[in-house]
Amino acid sequence: MRLNPFNPDSINVRRGGGGGGFPGGGGGRLGCGAIVIALIAAVVFGVDPGQMLGTMDDLQQTQSPQQQQQPGGETAAEICDDSAYATEACNALASLNQTWEPAFQQAGIEFQQPTLEFLSGGVESTGCGQASSAMGPFYCPADQTIYIDTSFYDQLDRELGAAGDFARYYVIAHEYGHHIQALTGIANQVRSAQQQNPGAANQLQVLMELQADCYAGAWAGKNRNAIDPGDFEEGMTAASAIGDDALMRGAGQRVSPENFTHGSSAQRMQALRLGLESGDDVQCDKIMQRT
Ligand SMILES: [Zn+2]
Repeated sequence: MRLNPFNPDSINVRRGGGGGGFPGGGGGRLGCGAIVIALIAAVVFGVDPGQMLGTMDDLQQTQSPQQQQQPGGETAAEICDDSAYATEACNALASLNQTWEPAFQQAGIEFQQPTLEFLSGGVESTGCGQASSAMGPFYCPADQTIYIDTSFYDQLDRELGAAGDFARYYVIAHEYGHHIQALTGIANQVRSAQQQNPGAANQLQVLMELQADCYAGAWAGKNRNAIDPGDFEEGMTAASAIGDDALMRGAGQRVSPENFTHGSSAQRMQALRLGLESGDDVQCDKIMQRT
């Protein structure tokens, strides 16, 4: 995608404190993309992926907010200029804000920008508990922050075969989708429904994730003139690569749909495509009505 350069005054970004050292791979309790990382952790760090995947039900759980103080007083421009990936993520964040704010205004729902925090390899206190880069990108509703270590993009490319800028935009736009769900109240509704019907908790979780995929596609679809040839294919390749069945197969596990948390490759591709082709978030809202 060809995105406009971000305006540093129009986005909330933060650099993680980091420096706490790698936690040894255990203890992951949140994180979208944690399933991806569980696979990578299994390969790189010798962690039993089942052990980490078992924590995924906690994905949307929140703990008491504990806002991070911004160390160093760096400006958004300084943080975003750190690397090409960081700049790209800041451009995406600015575009996502510009795309979604009017949609919220139109729907009469109060809009708030999320914060983007760049993790840098250490352990970090977040509104959702301790987090580390090894958990993959995630959104924390308690502090309305998208957490990402941009080295994840290299893993996405090298270990999951999902290359290209659109694959990277898909990741951040998906996390932004969870921010939308927090603002609209869908996230809370799903959490209540999960508590009332624990048997359907995983299915509901999958629908939440598919809706976030659809919102990611809808953002791109609403910015159709910025889409480059090949972007669609990059998105589909990424959506396929991070489908639960593909990840389970890749980890040498039996494919067990009852343990899906994000949806199959086919479901994720379909959800992203629905948003992309329609550019209409109302289409994405219908995903939650499939229960
Ligand atoms: Zn997610």
